[in-house]
Amino acid sequence: MPGHVLLRIDPGAVGTLAGNLAGGTILVSATNGKTTTTRLVSGALRHDGRAVVTNSAGANLLSGVAAALAEASPRPGSPASGVFEVDEAALPEVARRVQPRAMLLMNLFRDQLDRHGELEAIGDRWTQMLTRMSPLPRLVLCGDDPLIAGLAPEGSDVIWFGIDDPSVSSAGLSHASDSTRCRACGSALAYRHVWLGHIGDWRCEPCGTARPVPDVAVVHAGLDGARGSDPVIRTPEGEVTLHLELPGLHNVLNAAGALAGAIAMGVPAGSAAEAISAVPPAFGRAERVSVDGRDVVILLAKNPAGANENVRTLMLDDREHDLLVALNDRIADGRDVSWVWDVDWEPLLPRVRRLTATGERAHDLALRFRYAGMDMARVHVQPDHGAALAEALAATPDGGTLEVLPTYTAMHEIRADLVSRGAAGEFWAGG
Ligand SMILES: [Zn+2]
Repeated sequence: MPGHVLLRIDPGAVGTLAGNLAGGTILVSATNGKTTTTRLVSGALRHDGRAVVTNSAGANLLSGVAAALAEASPRPGSPASGVFEVDEAALPEVARRVQPRAMLLMNLFRDQLDRHGELEAIGDRWTQMLTRMSPLPRLVLCGDDPLIAGLAPEGSDVIWFGIDDPSVSSAGLSHASDSTRCRACGSALAYRHVWLGHIGDWRCEPCGTARPVPDVAVVHAGLDGARGSDPVIRTPEGEVTLHLELPGLHNVLNAAGALAGAIAMGVPAGSAAEAISAVPPAFGRAERVSVDGRDVVILLAKNPAGANENVRTLMLDDREHDLLVALNDRIADGRDVSWVWDVDWEPLLPRVRRLTATGERAHDLALRFRYAGMDMARVHVQPDHGAALAEALAATPDGGTLEVLPTYTAMHEIRADLVSRGAAGEFWAGG
């Protein structure tokens, strides 16, 4: 609301206030991982002794950025820096007004087609945005995503980040993969390694375009089950080791992006690595809480790529799983839930001891698991999220872990239930 009011009163205020941030601003955008990565970059800048103006998770449209700036109201020459998470569709407008010093662009996956349109269309809008910006910000790009790699204008200042650890290469492209055609010539891309989705070590044989060699590269992912990871990352300033409470390869890549983003903002790599290792998980992003003698881990999944990474992360733990999967179809979740058919649930299901399907589209989920060949005696359908959480917790062995995979609004509902049980901190208190 403050952001909307500010924009109504003074449409130029965002540019003026952002211009007062002498520490410069970095914008972070992607389909997946922008909330987590924005937190990590903010942590790195603060650890380096800077004041940071940042938007709260999810408030990532122009109004959210305006609200954060209005609240901080930096005076001209303020030494603070801005670190803003920005929605993919809102990015060109926010960038035009904020005139960032750096932009961290991480990935583009298929997400809520009813809202954002085709991936290629977002890629085209981002390309136009960059060709119109003068001076160009420092770009921090994930070159392992071919769509992101194709964004860099001729002669631009880019820090490339990516993965260089063949041990985490997966067999092939999952069937949810997007963007596997060359942006330059339209030919099908060849992959030497696939890290996740369409992100990998790619090249186009016909035209010779290939993944840029990363300046900031994960040389050892160091995955430690669903608990976290200890990645080793090569930077222009030497190798650093991180300790992440965030599980999965996608979070290792987010951390590499955050490290590269912090370096682009002038933070020494060693200091940034230390800070990134100390940042707790964001709300609902691998957040772990304890309730009635059981651990509850919340892994937000709002599109096929994110859900596939969650499945893959859970597969790292070689044990039986108790799952609560929640599917809502409100605007913030995406009205079209057909994406659950593009998630590769199959390898995980034989290891699931009990699965509770909940949310407004609980029955759609159950149908998906039925077609995946799951033993339906182990699937329980309870559309009411409160009742589903209670049942799933009661059925999880004492000392065990209940893994919750919700869509966006379902995450907020389930988390509110956990807060009322005294298990999780309030959103605004916990950030
Ligand atoms: Zn090509």
